[in-house]
Amino acid sequence: MIRPNMHYADLKDSYLFYRIAQKTGAYLVEHPDAHLYRMGIGDVTLPLCAAVIEALHEAVDDQADTKRFQGYLPECGAPFLRKIIAEHYRKRGIALADDEIFVSSGASDELGDILDLFDRGSSALVMEPAYPAYVDANVMAGRKIIRLPSDEGEGFLPEPREEAKADILYICSPNNPTGAAFSREQLGRWVDFANANGSVILFDAAYEAFIEDDGLPRSIFEIRGAETCAIEICSLSKTAGFTGTRLGYTVIPRTLERGGMNFNDMWVRNRTTKTNGVSYIIQKGAAAVFSEEGQEQIRANIRVYKENARILMNALDRLGIRYFGGRNSPYLWMKCPGGMGSWEFFDLLLNEIQVVGTPGEGFGACGEGFFRFSTFGSPEDTAEAARRMTALLAGRA
Ligand code: PLP
Repeated sequence: MIRPNMHYADLKDSYLFYRIAQKTGAYLVEHPDAHLYRMGIGDVTLPLCAAVIEALHEAVDDQADTKRFQGYLPECGAPFLRKIIAEHYRKRGIALADDEIFVSSGASDELGDILDLFDRGSSALVMEPAYPAYVDANVMAGRKIIRLPSDEGEGFLPEPREEAKADILYICSPNNPTGAAFSREQLGRWVDFANANGSVILFDAAYEAFIEDDGLPRSIFEIRGAETCAIEICSLSKTAGFTGTRLGYTVIPRTLERGGMNFNDMWVRNRTTKTNGVSYIIQKGAAAVFSEEGQEQIRANIRVYKENARILMNALDRLGIRYFGGRNSPYLWMKCPGGMGSWEFFDLLLNEIQVVGTPGEGFGACGEGFFRFSTFGSPEDTAEAARRMTALLAGRA
């Protein structure tokens, strides 16, 4: 009889969003006319920008024209898009060759697929609180997972240390869920640590576009030495509203080698075997994101989310509640007032003011006592949620 991958039996039920859905569903059964202020969503709400829509339409027309029709494209990405993305990095002072950029269907796909590059006996470090996919993808492969908890004392930005030694190091900056972003110096210490130990950093840059402080790195390749120890995984999901359209890109420097193997060559071999690439239409739409017009338009959308963040930060500041993130990230990570547990706080907000957020405990045990708000909701709902929270929590911090 076939033997299934028994590591799937080791996966914990992803009960976080399930439990949230159950609790909000039960509330709506009892209060069918209630409007919920959904501040938990990790999905964008604004539509694609005009430059992207125009490019998508043109690409559809190309597919209707015998002369312009596109069949298979190169598996690692259309040359026009790899070039535009490499140019985008060059404008930010990072020299990359076009063939160091790989076009993907998004960061989630890539975070899972890229693990093909590493031996199953290798270990993975996950700094918690963390995006749950890092742990689950490694559990499925039966890898040893080392959890590095972080806390408010270190601003949820852990420093490298002996117990953090692992083969694969996940770093997400700005972080989901805490919103914390590593400084150049902090990231430099992780790069040195990875190079010294022969590890590889998987740098999840899904939220880089939300960084507004000039001093903070938006790419790990701003750090000297990263070209010999890091892979950067990027996404247009939050940057340009591509959550439903699907496009990401991954940077694997040609200088990244371990055990006599070149990771860039290995990934070319992997992609040319396991995918036929991303659709021509979507890659055309993605190219428009990097045009001058596209960049202006996506920045205007990000400003809307940032204004939501400002409204929430002002409310928490007035309440005297400690929080992380918000400034360089679409997430705010607040301390539950009065020492409340994160599910207890969830119930309070849902039942008293119809605001729905995400309990911190769902991102690792060290997230208990914290709560995540996303800023991707509508400005109207965000302002009302902030007003309701201010009224409910005054005097409770
Ligand atoms: N990485 C992080 C930290 C995320 O929060 C998300 C989505 O929420 C992703 C990756 C996945 O992004 P994509 O939509 O590109 O698959």
